[in-house]
Amino acid sequence: MKKVVVMKFGGTSVGSAERIRDVATIVRDASKTYQVVVVVSAMSGVTDLLVQAAEHAEQRAQKSFRDIVDTIRHKHIAAIESLKLDADTATSLRANVTKDLDELSGWLEGVYMLRELTPRARDLITSFGERLSVQLVAASLVQHGVAAEPVTANRCIVTDDKFGDTQPDLKASAKKTKRTLSPLLAELVTPVVTGFMGATTKGIVTTLGRGGSDYSATILGYCLDAHEVWIWTDVTGVMTADPRIIPKARTIDHLSYDEAAELSYFGAKVLHPFTMLPAALKQTPIVIKNTLEPQAVGTHITELATPDSHEVKAITSMKQLSLITVQGKGMTGVPGFAARVFGALAVAKVSVLFISQASSQYNISLVVKRADGKHATDALHEEFRRDLSRHSIEMVKLRENLAIIAVVGEGMHGHPGVAGKTLSSLGESNINIVAIAQGSSERNISLVIDETDVPAAVRHIHDAFKLERDPKA
Ligand code: ADP
Ligand code: ASP
Ligand code: MG
Repeated sequence: MKKVVVMKFGGTSVGSAERIRDVATIVRDASKTYQVVVVVSAMSGVTDLLVQAAEHAEQRAQKSFRDIVDTIRHKHIAAIESLKLDADTATSLRANVTKDLDELSGWLEGVYMLRELTPRARDLITSFGERLSVQLVAASLVQHGVAAEPVTANRCIVTDDKFGDTQPDLKASAKKTKRTLSPLLAELVTPVVTGFMGATTKGIVTTLGRGGSDYSATILGYCLDAHEVWIWTDVTGVMTADPRIIPKARTIDHLSYDEAAELSYFGAKVLHPFTMLPAALKQTPIVIKNTLEPQAVGTHITELATPDSHEVKAITSMKQLSLITVQGKGMTGVPGFAARVFGALAVAKVSVLFISQASSQYNISLVVKRADGKHATDALHEEFRRDLSRHSIEMVKLRENLAIIAVVGEGMHGHPGVAGKTLSSLGESNINIVAIAQGSSERNISLVIDETDVPAAVRHIHDAFKLERDPKA
């Protein structure tokens, strides 16, 4: 019995017929050694189009959502033509795509009629990208001589019903996944499973949040006791910084689960932040690899910390954030104040990305997504209405157009000077720091800066720690 390896291919990796053929070659070669379970994202750009279509339907823009469905149809039909499948397979694939898009159109018309896009409808609509892409990938695998079958993950992954932001029930998912996939694996058929998607215990379709196919891969890895989970993408692994900002960024050989989680939480888009959770539970190694350069070793993520000669592993950035400051003498030494701040935000369903409190306890600052800023400030004004009128709280202030830069690495633990070097590199380049926080794990220093300073800040910190240099060289 071959070892099970889950291989996830992202949007660009399945973005055209040519790329889908590359995927088929990779899976065919890996299948000589492993029993591969494939997880795929929607073709690149399709989930964004689905979100737009859903929003246009809600806004009663009938022509534009219908045009978007046509764009999605053309993209998939063109890819089917270019895959050069045998005539019968191509005909049945075209029929399936048409059937799925008719179903999608029905849901969009429903949103249009009701003038309401619920989180539940949004999840259902956005799941269609993966439902389409699995069929193309499975057909291409068959053409390459690999027995393969598309599987929709509502038959595998069980989630709660917090639509748009669901979490899996791993135990229930393991049971369901085994029930669905074991018969295929027993026949040596490669399942091609939709990423991003799950279903509640009642069978209602959910999604794991944007970029969630990475998470799908490790959830399935957990359910199947996989030997490894390989995440195939368009870069050679997790890099010392976003390569779009730092073209000379270097691929990191090894990260611990905690480091990878911290990097993805603070903006390294290459991994969904929750990807590491199921893998860490069973200590399943994760390998990040590039579909365009399959021979490159990529990044390995395991439970081990690699004391690197660099105390810092990577720098990430997250934009479109706002800082909320609650300030006033009335909060100094008053127990329960922070609880009121976080309680009000929890009720308003706002998630806080960063917290900083001066030791004077005169103010507390928190960072939220820009989209949540106004709503969060309103919630805090409401909570502190009486305190504000008594002036025990002086103000609740919102500042927009900010970013968080995070400097991450296990090696900074007990290693003095990392914060100093980070701050002085920004000081020398005249970049103003709005707020600072360090996790008590000493694995991360986060700084709030103006959004426009992000490229220069990442460049200066990357240079200060000489991250482009291989620590082993
Ligand atoms: P996929 O479609 O395969 O899931 P994503 O676009 O979600 O791929 O993630 C890969 C992208 O993440 C890369 O193309 C890169 O631009 C971006 N990225 C941001 N930060 C990093 C980083 N530190 N290392 C590697 N890639 C990063
Ligand atoms: N297709 C989904 C998205 O674009 C999930 C993913 O690609 O991981 O967010
Ligand atoms: Mg992704």
